[in-house]
Amino acid sequence: MTAVVIDNIGELTTNVDDEPALHDAAIVLDEGRIAWVGESAGAPAADRHLDAGGRAVLPGWVDSHSHLVFAGDRTSEFEARVAGQPYAAGGILSTVRATRAASDAQLEATIVRLRQEALEQGTTFMETKTGYSLNVEGEVRSARLAARHADDVTFLGAHVVGPGRDADEYVDEVIHVMLPQVRGYVRWADVFCEQGAFGPDHARAILAVARDAGLGTRIHANQLSQGEGVQIGVEVGAASVDHCNHLSDADIDALVGAASRPDGPTVATLVPCCDVSTRQPFAPARRLLDAGVPVALATDCNPGTSFTTSMGYCVATAVLQMGLSVREAVFAATAGGAAALRRTDVGRIVVGARADVQILDAPSTVHLAYRPGVPLTWAVFRGGVRVR
Ligand SMILES: [Zn+2]
Repeated sequence: MTAVVIDNIGELTTNVDDEPALHDAAIVLDEGRIAWVGESAGAPAADRHLDAGGRAVLPGWVDSHSHLVFAGDRTSEFEARVAGQPYAAGGILSTVRATRAASDAQLEATIVRLRQEALEQGTTFMETKTGYSLNVEGEVRSARLAARHADDVTFLGAHVVGPGRDADEYVDEVIHVMLPQVRGYVRWADVFCEQGAFGPDHARAILAVARDAGLGTRIHANQLSQGEGVQIGVEVGAASVDHCNHLSDADIDALVGAASRPDGPTVATLVPCCDVSTRQPFAPARRLLDAGVPVALATDCNPGTSFTTSMGYCVATAVLQMGLSVREAVFAATAGGAAALRRTDVGRIVVGARADVQILDAPSTVHLAYRPGVPLTWAVFRGGVRVR
């Protein structure tokens, strides 16, 4: 692989500690890694040269929450919702019917199309989940197909109770039949803990078994109502509690307590497009950050409640409507996502990190919120290879 020097960078966001953005900077990508970071004038020579023309350079987005393994369409449900019908967890079942009926090739084509769509907008690392088949054969198939295209895969057999099934019996199947069979394809296990999905006892049971089987854990928590999801996430040592729209002071205290845990914090992963699309109150991002809780931003890309691959949209919304600074939002969408996936090799531009870099057609990251909805991606490198 040939080394690339990118120089004449107008603003370089490294996400290294409290280091402010660098100006008139350069970076070198070599053997898939960041090999050098510094002032443009001092940049070493390399096989190839890219003049950034004063543009802003930052780490590629790390999207730590998506659901790309599905078939079908929920446009009419979305229309009904924007006309005033409230969201309930059961809408997932229409996607389950379509996903079960789809061929491997159809499912794989959707994963590839959405993964590519995300990559072209700067998402260089993407997690995705199973959870739209809810039977043994379908969940194993989803995990297998996801593992071919996503950077990290999560088993979400406990999305809702399989249609027509008794909840206890279904949870037993998730634990004793599905988990062992998806084990080779996934790094994470997740549960949707909510009224209409899984209660606290079932969520605890599934996550405890997953953890003991060596999987990392995460949980869809406190999305539609105040519940025990966040507390359970902290209890089991989950890497992330996702959604977090309805938090008590005790929930925030629990996350603060977990922030300095030696095996890694429990990150609050916020999904602003889902909040807007379901007309839920935004997650209390400002309160979480002010309390010292690590925060990630993710798309939650799924056909029901958040059909976007745009991390730029998430950043703009976090700034314009959730009270984050641009710097905080960009950090949450890169290093924050990496923390939510317990990774140290992505989300930062530092020597040794994976060479996952995006260049905006703008002089600074402020433009992500200043010019919302405008496609600003100018170039994307993933593992040192230019992919856009
Ligand atoms: Zn989700």
